[in-house]
Amino acid sequence: MAEQVDGGLLHVDVELDVLSRNDSVAARNRTFFREQRIVALNLMSSPGSGKTTLLEQTIRWFAAANEAAAPSISVIEGDQQTKNDARRIREAGASAVQVNTGDGCHLEASMVARALELLKPPSGSFVMIENVGNLVCPSMFDLGETARVVVISVTEGEDKPLKYPNAFLSADLCVINKIDLLPYLDFDLAALRGNILAVNPDIEIVEASCRQENTSWMQWLLAQSQRLEAENVGC
Ligand code: MG
Ligand code: ZN
Repeated sequence: MAEQVDGGLLHVDVELDVLSRNDSVAARNRTFFREQRIVALNLMSSPGSGKTTLLEQTIRWFAAANEAAAPSISVIEGDQQTKNDARRIREAGASAVQVNTGDGCHLEASMVARALELLKPPSGSFVMIENVGNLVCPSMFDLGETARVVVISVTEGEDKPLKYPNAFLSADLCVINKIDLLPYLDFDLAALRGNILAVNPDIEIVEASCRQENTSWMQWLLAQSQRLEAENVGC
């Protein structure tokens, strides 16, 4: 009987219910992205790892690199409060919808579905979903994304992947950010790489910085787009 179930077990049941409802909305988002040939990325990290700055730079690079061929980017910004990041993205030249989660500490698939109604991303484009800065529960909520990206900066601890493994375990790509700061830090990059791969041996890793051209990151993005095109050829 439910009354005899201890608090911990009851909590697990509630959590499973929330997650299964989330999964059905995420499946609808995923179908939408697939039908529209949209690459949707779920970006996860701690606060302050440089997600928004990386997106600003990516938007400007796409615009400059090849006006005719570069896919367009639009952004869903998740933060507890403020519209600051959506404003920054618009100033960089892309469409953005801000989702404020209030007390919530992660984005859910239903929030993304509502944001997509406002954003109206074009077919064949990129939708960047910048999750709430939090390495814990965002990894539990499927948003229907094409791929997951976890960002960690070299101002954080090398052992973060071991402390918060789920975000790294569920991601397809890890961006090691703020790499330009390495000369000023006692940071063991090899140890970080080892910890990332210890948690997830299949993850791809690229290094990035807002002070350089992030060729590996851009190539990874374009590869996602090309992979989607190839998958759709048979449809
Ligand atoms: Mg941000
Ligand atoms: Zn949360």
